[in-house]
Amino acid sequence: MGIVTAISSSLVSLGDANLFWKCRQLARCIQSKSFLIRGDRALSSRTGVVDRCREWIGEVSSQRPVQLSQVEDSFIGEKRHLVRWFSVGSLPQTGTSLTSREAAVAVKQNAGLVGFYSDHHVVPLPDGHRFPMDKYRATRKLLEEDAALRGILVTYPSPYASREELSLVHDASYLDSISTGDLDEKQQRAIGFPWSPDLWRRSQASCGGTIAAMHAVLLGVTKVAANIAGGTHHAFPDHGEGFCVYNDIAVAAKVALNEYPVSCNLQSPILVIDLDVHQGNGTSKIFENDDRVITFDLHGAKNYPWRTRMTSNYDIGLPDDTGDEEYLKVLNERLPSVFETHKPFLVFFQAGVDALKEDSFGRLALTRQGLLRRNHIVYSACITRNLPLVITMGGGYSRPSEASIQAHADVYRSAALRYGAAQSI
Ligand SMILES: [Zn+2]
Repeated sequence: MGIVTAISSSLVSLGDANLFWKCRQLARCIQSKSFLIRGDRALSSRTGVVDRCREWIGEVSSQRPVQLSQVEDSFIGEKRHLVRWFSVGSLPQTGTSLTSREAAVAVKQNAGLVGFYSDHHVVPLPDGHRFPMDKYRATRKLLEEDAALRGILVTYPSPYASREELSLVHDASYLDSISTGDLDEKQQRAIGFPWSPDLWRRSQASCGGTIAAMHAVLLGVTKVAANIAGGTHHAFPDHGEGFCVYNDIAVAAKVALNEYPVSCNLQSPILVIDLDVHQGNGTSKIFENDDRVITFDLHGAKNYPWRTRMTSNYDIGLPDDTGDEEYLKVLNERLPSVFETHKPFLVFFQAGVDALKEDSFGRLALTRQGLLRRNHIVYSACITRNLPLVITMGGGYSRPSEASIQAHADVYRSAALRYGAAQSI
């Protein structure tokens, strides 16, 4: 019997009503190393594992965490197995348990914008980490509390992308690594986040939100739907990088190609408009030989990615410090012809706001007003052609995060107002 099975049967035999909660706490403790695994050879035997597991649960439930000084290397493997079991078996469904299609169908018919969120999962990050994890909830709160959006913006928890959906883009071994935490330091450094069960579940939800938004627009529930997360365009089939674990747009596009082949095909392709300041290298790579998906990418020429830059159908690199007028001129000149040339059926908008001049990674110099005008260029192009649109969040790294959060909220607010008005005419 393997360690995971042994622990599983042990926990089930305890029959405690609060077991799942305790396990989750325990998994967090182990992950954060605030509760360290005892350097105890007893863990190498089944009985030892079962006994230790009971002991841990007792200690955690009575809130008497044991303080120990070190973790022996020989137990790191066991720690992974433990975290794996706890994450697979015990994380509560804090979001919805619906499939992505069911989540889309459950959306009430709406004149405006439907937004899926996954900020009920917060990835635990070390102190001083540069990623603004709080921006997701803050953006949603801003939108939900905006009286002007009442009736034209509704939010729903994201469904979790299924293994089957993720497999349309990602390799089986990579999916296994993310779900079990079997990532080495180099892989975690490339992603930019330390692995945790919450990272895995949040990534599933973040991807599921884009898939559900895609279903919502292709099923005709709404003309525009959004993920108040996602746009994780640096994720490749076999690895993640740049704060991206799964490539949500690529997965959603592949699901669309599979499930709506009459609508999305070579004659009426999917268009990905990526206006994040960083090139969407993962998305470009995934569709480099697939003309059913056209990638348009406007980004900072000197920005990350450097070594892993890929080729999109349309790549436009802008010089450092490009401001509103120059940026909008390029977008206005280049984007309409892409619509005319390819006649897309469905549009994904990666609406990263890191071209903002306050952004700490961006290198460009757009204002909030400039980004708002940028958004409207995309919305106008879709509304005038009556095209279904899926919006994803993308990057935004101002410090403090307020400027990015306002710009992110603008993306969704302006879509809700614009589409709300368009549909009431
Ligand atoms: Zn970015």
